[in-house]
Amino acid sequence: MSRAWLIGAGPGDVELMTLKATRALAEADVVLVDDLVNPEVLQFARDDALVVYVGKRGGQPSASQANIVSMMLDHLRAGRSVARLKGGDPFVFGRGGEEQQALQGTGIHVEIVNGITAGIAAPAAIGIPVTHRDHAQGVIFVTGHGAGSGEPDWRALAATRMTLVIYMGMRRLNDIAAALLQAGMDPQTPCAAIESATRPEQRHVTARLDTLAADVAHAGLGSPAIVVIGGVAALASSSESRHTPARDESGWSNSARVMRCRCGPSHASRFQPLAHCRHLPPLRENISASTAYANRARCSLRRAAH
Ligand code: SAH
Repeated sequence: MSRAWLIGAGPGDVELMTLKATRALAEADVVLVDDLVNPEVLQFARDDALVVYVGKRGGQPSASQANIVSMMLDHLRAGRSVARLKGGDPFVFGRGGEEQQALQGTGIHVEIVNGITAGIAAPAAIGIPVTHRDHAQGVIFVTGHGAGSGEPDWRALAATRMTLVIYMGMRRLNDIAAALLQAGMDPQTPCAAIESATRPEQRHVTARLDTLAADVAHAGLGSPAIVVIGGVAALASSSESRHTPARDESGWSNSARVMRCRCGPSHASRFQPLAHCRHLPPLRENISASTAYANRARCSLRRAAH
């Protein structure tokens, strides 16, 4: 029987994907991939899986939500299992809720596979815990986008004195900082903006609230980025990342490469296309960027035996 999954691919580093996500991917006949998903995670998909990019990669217009849902329905009705792969967690600003509702409305059960959301991973990548007994009793995930349900109530958020973790806030950082200052937040409140967290190109800026927008602009930081506002941001480490593994010359993690090498020469060559995954065209079907799950299990066993 065909199955449908909404899968979180995590923030970027392939090692931050869950085991459950890799197992679901290994079962899928069709994989629909969003922007912000590291293509390297497709190594967990089947060789013969149909992989379709539905995001805005390469400047192409993204498929509409309605198109994505109807694509999923077509495949499911044809008896194929479909994995919908999203960055971070599918239920945190991922529109996963809308897709679940649309599929459930047609009687299809969707399995949810959580991913590590950028709102936790990005601060952690520079040593910021989103809660800390000395700094914040809670954390608020909020969109800075200002679309959909409208502008967040920055005054109310400032009054909570909790850590604010802002998604999609880079374009409106000036307005957001101004609103928080106007709401009475201390101009010296520690802040951080982390771009492309857990990826090879990760960069970050730390600043006070009153200089945050200017410092971010000066450093040229852009999307995707998470902005952290609150006392915990003072705990940011000065080095770039303590969580991202060392990268090889292709820009991806050494550990992933080691994993490939230990699988033996034949498997290593099957992984070869992955080094070029970032240059895939925006919409690509029938790509073979994976190895069978059984082979992976054998590799793990071999690694364990070493
Ligand atoms: N579902 C995703 C969020 C999608 S909304 C999750 O749970 O992480 C897209 C926003 O997420 C981006 O604009 C940015 O604010 C944030 N984001 C996603 N990946 C990121 C990354 N690797 N580094 C920094 N921010 C990221």
